[in-house]
Amino acid sequence: MKINHISDTVTLHNGVEMPWLGLGVYKVQEGNEVEQAVEAALRTGYRSIDTAAYYQNEQGVGRAVRASGIPREQIFITTKVWNTDQGYDETLRAFEDSSRKLDLDYVDLYLIHWPVPGKFKDTWRALEKLYLEGRVRAIGVSNFLVHHLRYLLAEPDLRVKPMVNQVEFHPRLYQQELLQFCRENEIQLEAWSPLMRGKIFDHPVVQQLSQKYDKTPAQIVLRWELQHGVIVIPKSIREERIRENAGIFDFQLAEDEMEQMNGLHTGERVGPHPDHFGY
Ligand code: NDP
Repeated sequence: MKINHISDTVTLHNGVEMPWLGLGVYKVQEGNEVEQAVEAALRTGYRSIDTAAYYQNEQGVGRAVRASGIPREQIFITTKVWNTDQGYDETLRAFEDSSRKLDLDYVDLYLIHWPVPGKFKDTWRALEKLYLEGRVRAIGVSNFLVHHLRYLLAEPDLRVKPMVNQVEFHPRLYQQELLQFCRENEIQLEAWSPLMRGKIFDHPVVQQLSQKYDKTPAQIVLRWELQHGVIVIPKSIREERIRENAGIFDFQLAEDEMEQMNGLHTGERVGPHPDHFGY
């Protein structure tokens, strides 16, 4: 797998190309803050933005994308259906609301934000409908563990397999089994909190690789994820960090260094466990 340029993409199982790098906008304020972050990212060469209805900044994301002058088809937009909107009819309504806010003609990737028990299968049927009608170019899930995926994939009426699973993934949470399962089922894994919100930067292994490659700790961590074949969507509202987080395409960690980084796994999470979320 060669990931050498900011414009490099991975081909999802339906043939859609998705950039390896995107900008996350969780906790970025609607209005100037989100518009400036998206503008900075697009200027830097990012072509993928990860938002969600829950983040309440879809309008700003849409405005910044439209104002950029970059052709719509060159930009990949992800949004997500929130937990309280799950269920078939509710999801279809939530999608209309997100579409209206984004105002970008179509959505590239629509995700189920969390596997709400008793609801996510109906939510998935709504996503399938949106996909088959051409309203979204790809559909997927987020925060699905292997058992959620198995349950969904075993559905006899399943019409479309998820193309993506976006989960918490960083060196402290190297989800090897999930990664393997997704690979076997042609589901592309995508890392949220890929920087572990900064909590792993001081680790000696990260520091040592940072010195060796003359790269920042953030760049080392993101590169480790990319070399595992995992999409990354680091969040920042600062242009210099947005640029820094994109400086991950001109070096390569050696196999033993990947192993060293793998060894940082402890299972520690910065977000909720999908089975213990207060649904
Ligand atoms: P990240 O791991 O991306 O870390 C973001 C934090 O790190 C911010 O505080 C940011 O601060 C700081 N930061 C960014 N770049 C650097 C850098 N180079 N050096 C030092 N600090 C840096 O965490 P997120 O939780 O935001 O995850 C990324 C994205 O994933 C989200 O924005 C969202 O799109 C998605 N996500 C999805 C979830 C889901 O349930 N599906 C859950 C959580 C996130 P500053 O902005 O001040 O630079």
